[in-house]
Amino acid sequence: MRLEAIRARLMLSGLLQQTMQSEATPASLHELERVHAPDYLSSLALQRPQSGLQELDTDTRIGPHSLNAAALAAGAAIKGVDLVCGNRADNVFCAVRPPGHHAERELAMGFCFYNNVAVAAAHAREAHGIERLAILDFDVHQGNGTLDIFRGDPAVLVCSSYQQAFYPWRYLHGEWPNVVNTPLAAGDGSRAFRHAVERDWLPALERHKPQLILLSSGFDAHRDDPLGQLALDHDDFYWITTLAMDVARRHAGGKLVSILEGGYHLKTLPLSVEAHLTALLGHPYRS
Ligand SMILES: [Zn+2]
Repeated sequence: MRLEAIRARLMLSGLLQQTMQSEATPASLHELERVHAPDYLSSLALQRPQSGLQELDTDTRIGPHSLNAAALAAGAAIKGVDLVCGNRADNVFCAVRPPGHHAERELAMGFCFYNNVAVAAAHAREAHGIERLAILDFDVHQGNGTLDIFRGDPAVLVCSSYQQAFYPWRYLHGEWPNVVNTPLAAGDGSRAFRHAVERDWLPALERHKPQLILLSSGFDAHRDDPLGQLALDHDDFYWITTLAMDVARRHAGGKLVSILEGGYHLKTLPLSVEAHLTALLGHPYRS
């Protein structure tokens, strides 16, 4: 339903017609095992019900087709990396579900089974020889899964802004040299967000000089979103996208892949994605 709402809005605004669209193939077991433990992957498959929903935790339920959708989402992220690293696209947005950034190496949580952005990062390193990359996560929830997988890995800079203290209640206090945690307070809006990103992320990005930028693009930090209490507006998503593109242009030949994470307001989410795509297409934004 979220993807249909996004698609309908992008058609209406004419943006969809300006993009090249392509279908993904499911990620292989080998591609998933680059970031998830083999035991975790096999136990997930065993918990898949024949019908109905099986509860993995209070908000993560698995149905008969969940893992197919999750493998397709991870496969889309891989395809995005292949297109950008093969110079067949300037940048890519992956409109996928389920999201991925809460999925840890050995744990499904927060609607996430496979960590799409982590699978994309591992693929970029293995298949395209990318040595330094950055993952920027502006979802209202911290990307605990991405941190779990890459904490302490000097090749991958992980920057995550999020509402504090809030779900996922994990990895909020640890310190690793490759992790930039940017907590925001409930009620914080545009000014606080932009200031924190410029203060925390930009210096780290300039030091790291990533050869590829991956975005965990969650739009649930919007003021209308029912899950969080941050107060971002559509033009903040335009702003963060252009900031990431500027860094990509300086260090990565413009290579950037964006992967959809959260965003749960059916009227607001499509407009947020529209602002994001407007930036990715290099257009000016009029809110
Ligand atoms: Zn979220």
